[in-house]
Amino acid sequence: MALLQISEPGQAPAPHQRRDAVGIDLGTTNSLVATLRSGSPTVLADDEGNESTPSVVHFGVDGTVTVGAAAQEKAVSDPLNTVRSAKRLMGKGAADLEGTWLASHYEFDTEAAAIPAFVTQAGNKTAIDVSAAILSKLKDVATRSVGGDLVGAVITVPAYFDDAQRQATKDAATLAGLSVLRLINEPTAAAVAYGLDNDETGTVVVYDLGGGTFDISVLKMQRGLFEVLATAGDTALGGDDFDEAVVAYLSEQAGVDALKNPSAQRRALQQARSIKEALSDAAAVDVHWDIEEGKHWDGTVTRDQLNAIILPLVKKTLSPCRRVLRDADVEKSDIRAVVMVGGSTRVPLVRDSVSEFFEQTVLTSIDPDQVVAVGAAIQADVLAGNKPDNDLLLLDVIPLSLGLETMGGLAEKVIPRNTTIPIARAQEFTTYKDGQTALALHVVQGERELVEDCRSLARFELTGIPPRVAGAARIQVLFQVDADGLLTVSAMEKESGVLASIDVKPSYGLSDGEIETMLSDSMDYAAEDMQKRLLQEQRVDAERVIEAIGSALDADGDVHLNENERAAIDGCIAAVADTIKDDNTDAIKASVEALEKGSAEFVERRMNASVKQLMAGQHVDVVAAQLKESEDN
Ligand code: ADP
Ligand code: MG
Repeated sequence: MALLQISEPGQAPAPHQRRDAVGIDLGTTNSLVATLRSGSPTVLADDEGNESTPSVVHFGVDGTVTVGAAAQEKAVSDPLNTVRSAKRLMGKGAADLEGTWLASHYEFDTEAAAIPAFVTQAGNKTAIDVSAAILSKLKDVATRSVGGDLVGAVITVPAYFDDAQRQATKDAATLAGLSVLRLINEPTAAAVAYGLDNDETGTVVVYDLGGGTFDISVLKMQRGLFEVLATAGDTALGGDDFDEAVVAYLSEQAGVDALKNPSAQRRALQQARSIKEALSDAAAVDVHWDIEEGKHWDGTVTRDQLNAIILPLVKKTLSPCRRVLRDADVEKSDIRAVVMVGGSTRVPLVRDSVSEFFEQTVLTSIDPDQVVAVGAAIQADVLAGNKPDNDLLLLDVIPLSLGLETMGGLAEKVIPRNTTIPIARAQEFTTYKDGQTALALHVVQGERELVEDCRSLARFELTGIPPRVAGAARIQVLFQVDADGLLTVSAMEKESGVLASIDVKPSYGLSDGEIETMLSDSMDYAAEDMQKRLLQEQRVDAERVIEAIGSALDADGDVHLNENERAAIDGCIAAVADTIKDDNTDAIKASVEALEKGSAEFVERRMNASVKQLMAGQHVDVVAAQLKESEDN
């Protein structure tokens, strides 16, 4: 079965005219938009001069939607209608909500639709709606700033985002009227910002500590491709936890018990956050804390004190660092660069601890709040076609092979792992039985030979195939993976044009850990799998022969065979059927050969009969002319 390359969708750059494109870091806590101005990446500011937009959306009673700092101000007075951290819910279902921070801070409707929604005074809002509102604001900032329409945006997502989460992000962009040039991984964007993709090879670590999440990724640059080797992290660890720890310290100093009043709590957290942020630059800050009505505390907090407060939290980030190196099978000495990302990596203790852990100076020269947006902007500029030589075009690869189940439970790879995306590949399949009018397609992912050892992605059916003899129908199955890693599989019967297709969306994503396991299994079991594949192939072949001879016997066995001859062939068939049950490849092969030998005479008689029949149906002259022609050749 030949693999046909149908098309490789590429970009069509317009060489002369500049096309404005932006990069967007759609963060859990803060979001940014950046673009290239005369070749240098620039983060765009809104009318108030803010380069960073808090990822907070307030839904007003009259339907007004407020985004960013203005929304954040309403958090104290109107908490339920002021949504933050919606990114945590992107692509998630109701079951994922249970026990989360979001579940304890907001009211949700998990009944009305397939995806859970925040219940607000302006109606139900999904995480997609919330993200769309943020993207919409960033789009406004961008169009105003570049003074015209955008060709599109590159939006970043965490490396561990699965297919559903990526799809949700794309849906949010569509709702906001933004055309998505590509989704790229946040750590990849950060590495691009530092130009690390210009190196031929090299392993890069990206340490991203934001407001509420910690992500660590190991990337490898190979032949112009960035591959995410491993990711790890903690979805409930970030600068917010530093703030809580500072509040606890201040409360102890001021001799106050837990703050019960929500607005006092908010005020304390905001106070703590400004103390923490100030101590990234200063050695000490004076604090005047209005605790509650008529109660305040004056004092000083030093950087050393802050360090002692947050040390356990900073240390907590190091075990995922250790894990990710192990998962990626990388030594510290192999690492070319450690990129710092996220507002919380401004904290000197964080920088020092990470430098010490990786035994090298970490990269901080690009603002860690902005580095992801900067990388996305660089990538957007290339994708918009502003770089004629496309030298910087980043390519992603699919981590595991994609294929189809074929007869006997075997996996046939259509797109092998590490193929760069986007990609489209077609392969032809055929029917197995005479008169077969439907074909069940089972899309699988993995490196193993047997379907049962691969991951099932989707099943669908192609019906309406015109009935033909086995092997005559030509069914083209097309696998397409778009630039964001989304897979579509379609099947078409070529003669009739009947078509069926499926988008493989939910649960397509795998964690890097799972991918690693699948890969190492495929190596561990390679020899055993090959044996199993040979056995299965032999079984399928045996069944095919039984099927073919069986239908010939049904058709005209009684015409060409006497009773003894018939019994002999039936005996051979029974012998094959017997050996199929066992796991002995050679025995099956031998019995099939015996059957083929035993029925050779019968097959020949049938052929002769059909030649005679053919000749009988034609004028003698024509046959003679045909014979002469074949002699001449
Ligand atoms: P996210 O990626 O989750 O959207 P960010 O990268 O914007 O988050 O990081 C937000 C966090 O960074 C907040 O906890 C904020 O307090 C912290 N942060 C911002 N600036 C500083 C600073 N100068 N020193 C310490 N922490 C900071
Ligand atoms: Mg971030």
